[in-house]
Amino acid sequence: MPEQHDFIIVGSGGGGGTIAWLLAKAGYDVLLLEQGPDFAAKNRDSSKAFDASVHDEFFYRLSKPDPKRRLRGDYNTFLKRDSGSNSKPFQYGWTASVLGGGSVLWGTWSFRALPIDFKLKTHFERTGQLASLGAYSVVDWPLQYSEMLPYYSVAEALLGVSGDRKAINDSIRASDWYQRFKNEAYWGSEDQWFPMEDYPLGPYTRTPVGQFIYDGINSVGTTWKAFPTPMAIVQPGSDGAKTRQALAKALAKQNGGLSSGIWNLQAEQLWSDRVRQACNMCGYCGEYLCWGSTGPKWGTQDTTLKELTDLPKATIRPNAKAIEVVFDQATRRATGVAYLDLTNRDDPKLEYADANIVIVSCGAVQTARLLLLSGPSSGLGNSGNQLGANATFHMFGLGIRATLADKFQGLLHSELGPTGNTSTFATYFMRDGADTWIKGGHITSSAKKNPLEDAVGALIRPTNPQIGSGLRDEMVENNRRLEVRLTADDLPIMENRVTLDPNYVDEYGIPVARIVRKFGDNETQVNKVGQSYMSKVFDVYRQKGALKGDLIPNNADLSLVGDHQMGTCRMGDDPNASVVNRFCRLHDADNVFVVDSSFMPTGLGLNPMVTVVANALRVGTHIVDSLRKGQAPGRT
Ligand SMILES: Cc1cc2nc3c(=O)[nH]c(=O)nc-3n(C[C@H](O)[C@H](O)[C@H](O)COP(=O)(O)OP(=O)(O)OC[C@H]3O[C@@H](n4cnc5c(N)ncnc54)[C@H](O)[C@@H]3O)c2cc1C
Ligand code: SF4
Repeated sequence: MPEQHDFIIVGSGGGGGTIAWLLAKAGYDVLLLEQGPDFAAKNRDSSKAFDASVHDEFFYRLSKPDPKRRLRGDYNTFLKRDSGSNSKPFQYGWTASVLGGGSVLWGTWSFRALPIDFKLKTHFERTGQLASLGAYSVVDWPLQYSEMLPYYSVAEALLGVSGDRKAINDSIRASDWYQRFKNEAYWGSEDQWFPMEDYPLGPYTRTPVGQFIYDGINSVGTTWKAFPTPMAIVQPGSDGAKTRQALAKALAKQNGGLSSGIWNLQAEQLWSDRVRQACNMCGYCGEYLCWGSTGPKWGTQDTTLKELTDLPKATIRPNAKAIEVVFDQATRRATGVAYLDLTNRDDPKLEYADANIVIVSCGAVQTARLLLLSGPSSGLGNSGNQLGANATFHMFGLGIRATLADKFQGLLHSELGPTGNTSTFATYFMRDGADTWIKGGHITSSAKKNPLEDAVGALIRPTNPQIGSGLRDEMVENNRRLEVRLTADDLPIMENRVTLDPNYVDEYGIPVARIVRKFGDNETQVNKVGQSYMSKVFDVYRQKGALKGDLIPNNADLSLVGDHQMGTCRMGDDPNASVVNRFCRLHDADNVFVVDSSFMPTGLGLNPMVTVVANALRVGTHIVDSLRKGQAPGRT
């Protein structure tokens, strides 16, 4: 007989790792299946205090386990839309395949969506732009922004975000786009746009590059205001992130906004007295796990999943790759999950586990793949031909690089912190004509990694690798390099989608995911206008002769589809135009939910993790409430 659980959750990243915690705390029997290994295990010895003096560069950078993003033998294929049918295997399309998923590798930039992100269709309708966006499938979210707000507060408490709320609010309020649209009826209220609550911790220390970009942004004009990038990294120099206290504070502020039984628990019942200690700015976490044993950098493996290890009815099972959500068409219910036990990767074992409710959270690419491999021949949840469609990935790679003149050598010696430090919302919408505004995103200083990381990168990159004096010259210049990135929206297009590849399989014979994508006119325009906006940050340095050479612009790269994958299981009220309903339950199945980034009906002009975590809390709360009332979750 297969083992039986209340819930099986597939995937342990932001969505899965969060909802597993909530359901287990509510007293349910939870099995979490994660395809990857637990890399952080050797790093997770709670009896040892965080040793801030250790900088084990070899272990933490050079001997990092690889591949960390994908399992051995696993890969996706890519097809540029309208370029024939020959997809090709490529290395991208992955967040991470380890316990913690993308929350292990992420950059920790921790933004709430802005209220207008839930109403983009209405916005483009009212501004008369929708007709020119005919190729796109822009929709409003089926939720009100106010429904997500309480969960944003709890999410920020769980993540222990370090930030400066007032500075963010000021940046939005000062922007010309906010001033232009703030009186529109659909725009949202001031209290939604400008939350008053402080972040759990003060802002992350400003780094040398961060300071240059901060001054560059503020010099553009009164509508441009810089703020410290909010990060889920414990503020350096602070006495740590006390999640229990932060939760208590967030819950106390809700004034009935969270009335569910689970949130009536005392903070002591929700969280242990673990404290995440402050980041010591070693700078080794860019796209890899933080080495601090208490998790200065937030990831589910060091927080929500660590809390689960104390609960008798919660099981975390790494090296367990789900290959099918087993579905009974007669009852419209999943009975459980079939998975490969990959503890010995050369000797996979097929296993089954049964559950009353299955929650899928494999990331937007792998969730689409798993559901397409499940249920009827067209895939589970695909009766409306929407599964995998409307995939969005942001305009990754869109940025500008500048190099300071030789005399500044040493000034930017190293970021000594994670990537990204200073941001502005001045570019969330960008003027493209007298009164035409295209959707952009936030600008953030970026990509100044630990010099060792950059040196290794220069040594091993496929084109123009450097060694010897070439490498030395590059590293000298690295000390003077500034870079900004525009995290801009790519608007959803139905045909940009994830399917099963008809020709390629992984090492277990399972079809791999094929990612089909092409930019539309909107993205071409965002590249163009984005470059001119970003270059303004460097105007002051150009005028003062502080730069060497030209600015080096980079447009978005179509194939950079790994980090911010969204949209393949669109949330909506209409089963013919979406995959999951407002509770993130499949329209086609009564007990299958999806809580990773794939539910997003439109992407955001900002990083998605906080929204993924907040949404998982929202869905988990709904499920617990329904079950306690004796109702089937996922209905009303
Ligand atoms: C390098 C990088 C930097 C990023 N930086 C930021 C940032 O600064 N801010 C931000 O907000 N977001 C950032 N992101 C994005 C963020 O990490 C994701 O949005 C977030 O992790 C999404 O969570 P998720 O639950 O959707 O899925 P994921 O975190 O992708 O987790 C999915 C999990 O499911 C597992 N899985 C997949 N298939 C199976 C299967 N068949 N069986 C079992 N398990 C499976 C995977 O191994 C993985 O652990 C970054 C991502 C990356 C990769
Ligand atoms: S810089 Fe990154 S790796 Fe180093 S302690 Fe801080 S969060 Fe951890």
